[in-house]
Amino acid sequence: MTNESLPQNFLHYCPHCGSADFAPAGGKQFRCGACGFSFFTNSAAAVAALIVDEAGRLMLTRRACEPWRGMLDLPGGFVDPDESAEEALRRELAEELGAQVAEMRYFGSSHNRYVFSGYTVFTTDIAFVCRLAPGAALAAADDVDSYVWLVPADIDLQTIGAPSIRSLVRQFAGAGLNRKTDPDR
Ligand SMILES: [Zn+2]
Repeated sequence: MTNESLPQNFLHYCPHCGSADFAPAGGKQFRCGACGFSFFTNSAAAVAALIVDEAGRLMLTRRACEPWRGMLDLPGGFVDPDESAEEALRRELAEELGAQVAEMRYFGSSHNRYVFSGYTVFTTDIAFVCRLAPGAALAAADDVDSYVWLVPADIDLQTIGAPSIRSLVRQFAGAGLNRKTDPDR
């Protein structure tokens, strides 16, 4: 990402003292002219699960919330403070699907932006390939409306909302996907 692409107007007040004398100070830094507080626009960690079943199908979830409500997604979410990525993945899969993870391995990462309540949130989406513990009755909950199992080569990338998730699914599915269906990457 280039510094020029950062939205420089998304913070208006100092989060420390509340002063409106709070402005970009070069790069990803904001600085308060009243109290001297510096704020750096860093990326928030998030996790995404590439869950594969015995038939080699990939699980995609349908988003119950904005942004991209109604579009497809991977299960996952933000990493909490004082939590590892692996812990976050296990927690999110339990919350969203009632699922227990049997095995996981790191796959790769991608970056994203969410506009949430008018505030731009930068994320680094960390993906793991997972297999679930057998026998659990999966039930969509939390910010997941439902889920589907799809053969990777059959996935239409345009039905996936987040560009970072689209990129991860495209990488996972490999050369079998038609790149002309991906408008962003
Ligand atoms: Zn201040």
